Amino acid sequence: MMYKFAVFGNPIKHSLSPNIHTQFAQQTGFEVSYDKILAPIDDFSSSAQEFINQGANGFNITVPFKLDAFKFANEFTLNAKTAGAVNTIKIEQDKIIGENTDGIGLVNDLTHNLGIELKDKVILILGAGGTTQGILLSLLKQQPNRVMIANRTTAKAIKLAKDFAELGKTCGFGLDKVKHNSVDIIINATSASLDGKMPDIAYGVANDAICYDLMYGKQTPFMDWATTNHSSMISDGLGMLVEQAATSFEFWTGVKPNAKQVLSNLRR
Ligand code: NDP
Repeated sequence: MMYKFAVFGNPIKHSLSPNIHTQFAQQTGFEVSYDKILAPIDDFSSSAQEFINQGANGFNITVPFKLDAFKFANEFTLNAKTAGAVNTIKIEQDKIIGENTDGIGLVNDLTHNLGIELKDKVILILGAGGTTQGILLSLLKQQPNRVMIANRTTAKAIKLAKDFAELGKTCGFGLDKVKHNSVDIIINATSASLDGKMPDIAYGVANDAICYDLMYGKQTPFMDWATTNHSSMISDGLGMLVEQAATSFEFWTGVKPNAKQVLSNLRR
């Protein structure tokens, strides 16, 4: 069987997904075509429908279409439902099944690739956007001591903390209230790195905290800040990207590829 996949985004030129999925196909012996599709900003659904009409088995969705993909799907996994956003779609006859693999991708990178135990840890997330909403369920399933969400717009952090309070200990506050003294892991889930900026944290030292930026592909101001502030470990989000792709590939084919091998190929 030949699988037909793609990733939708705008922009999409620099996406690493075709490279990653081609390596997964080689590892697992599946015949796979994987394209990059530039969808118009205001019409994701026509592009997606056209790809389905061409016989697609599934596709990934990246910025800025994860909410459009949520509206486009007609069935959802628990991850997608909780996240309110979809980054992976599987086509099965008339079913357009929406999944979100960002949270699993992040947790797999932290635990499997970086060897970090999340149970009983105090986790601070900077940012309360779509990705934070997508990763909270997976993080809370690891039973951390608590997850603190700090955002530039305080109300969004408080709302997310409330929405997830049934799944674990959460709290939300403004970036200006951040104090790092007893934090084990700091995750930068703001999009500030995309603009070459550091989230404006009023006070704090990373001390021995592990600092993880979801951004990948370049050294970010957050990673520089972590170095200056004596963080114990610093990582970008490349491992999350590969791990979320591996979970998508498994969702489509039923076979789990070796993400660690692909990650080490990309880091070379
Ligand atoms: P959203 O646009 O949904 O949210 C952006 C968040 O960043 C908001 O909380 C916003 O705060 C905050 N923010 C933006 N600029 C600044 C700033 N200058 N200072 C402080 N806070 C700021 O983005 P996403 O959640 O979708 O994406 C977040 C990041 O995660 C992106 O960099 C993206 O590339 C990365 N990502 C990486 C993945 C991977 O596989 N490695 C997967 C998915 C995402 P406010 O609410 O106040 O506007």
